[in-house]
Amino acid sequence: MAVVKERLMDALREHFGFDSFKGNQEKIINSILSGKDTFVIMPTGGGKSLCYQLPALMSPGCALIVSPLIALMKNQVDLVRGYSSKDNVAHFLNSTLSKAQIKKVRADLTAGKTKLLYVAPETLTKQENLDFFRELEISFIAVDEAHCISEWGHDFRPEYRRLKEMIDQISENLPIIALTATATPKVQSDIVKNLALNKANIFISSFNRPNLYYEIRSKRKKEQTIKDIVKFIHLHKGKSGIIYTLNRKTTEELADMLVANGVKAVAYHAGLDPSTRAQRQDMFLHEDTEVIVATIAFGMGIDKPDVRFVIHYNIPKSLENYYQETGRAGRDGLEGHCICYYSHKDVQKLEHLMRDKSLSEREMGAQLINETVAYAESAVCRRRVILHYFGEHYETENCGQCDNCRNPKEKIEVKNRVVIMLKA
Ligand code: ADP
Ligand code: MG
Ligand code: ZN
Repeated sequence: MAVVKERLMDALREHFGFDSFKGNQEKIINSILSGKDTFVIMPTGGGKSLCYQLPALMSPGCALIVSPLIALMKNQVDLVRGYSSKDNVAHFLNSTLSKAQIKKVRADLTAGKTKLLYVAPETLTKQENLDFFRELEISFIAVDEAHCISEWGHDFRPEYRRLKEMIDQISENLPIIALTATATPKVQSDIVKNLALNKANIFISSFNRPNLYYEIRSKRKKEQTIKDIVKFIHLHKGKSGIIYTLNRKTTEELADMLVANGVKAVAYHAGLDPSTRAQRQDMFLHEDTEVIVATIAFGMGIDKPDVRFVIHYNIPKSLENYYQETGRAGRDGLEGHCICYYSHKDVQKLEHLMRDKSLSEREMGAQLINETVAYAESAVCRRRVILHYFGEHYETENCGQCDNCRNPKEKIEVKNRVVIMLKA
């Protein structure tokens, strides 16, 4: 059943206050409303949430949204509730809820008041939940951050592998919508295979982020690099930015040094207790701090539109990671400066981190690192290299928005680097 355009626009205005759809949103929503399996590949900030939120609000029954991060569910639910006059239109169900809270969620679901239920994959591993869902009218299942299914993605979650099996237990023919910002061909085919999306409508958006400026700086001594960073931040006074580092200790060290140099900065990593983490994240969101120095534990799903720069103090472990992490800059479409410091020593550090992994994991990791190294050492347009990685051909000769295009180097052939394998 194709939904008349007018009805869709009315719903968009009523539920979200927007006047138009972005990119492929309308086509995607029509696909879901017609009951088809749908696979959405759209860069971060493209507006994936709305693709399942709107059809969920428009369909009879309740949609289940599988989301990997419990910390983000509350945020998502609050956002949906914000547009609605009724608090029970969206809920989440995960291990953080008390018995009484679970009872309330279940009562709202049974009464048919809830249109969106966010669940962790772990929620679906519990038989009692599956039995409960089986009795409900479920409109469709949305699998957000679907790349978590793949070991080639940047955030593999083994429980995601079992989703299809659990979804089938709820009902045989539930439409599935999978969404991800990770489009490398390997990850894509893993998702299709694992969720049996062979017949799905697939929507792939361009990954180009024209407003992001990409730059590689060679990394020298620590003091010098920090001086360089401080200088950059002072030139961008009052603007927000993220600095990514490889390990927890460095986040603290670097944040201390920035503070000593007059920058408002805090550290963020998974070793901090949850309340400190939440507090520092809030400080960043509410601009009480300019810079957050973080491990990759920070950022997934964080919707701060005016992050003006993302600096990588260490080279990331894959180009995919680099794209995702830099993608947090300039989500409002305005300036976003992405600098990556690159040194051979940091490459060795990354390789060293894999020493305890299995042979196949090390092979996989080494390949990903080599691709990042090739990016860093390339004299070609950075944008073209990144887009090529996602299977996209970038035609423009000079993007004007990367260091190689602004200051062309003499063309050098990047030799295939030899994979340095660590002994088992
Ligand atoms: P993604 O999950 O793809 O990274 P989000 O769903 O978080 O992106 O959306 C990113 C931002 O875009 C949000 O602030 C959202 O409110 C906004 N947005 C989504 N759709 C529209 C639209 N049709 N018009 C205007 N803003 C939109
Ligand atoms: Mg999202
Ligand atoms: Zn370029």
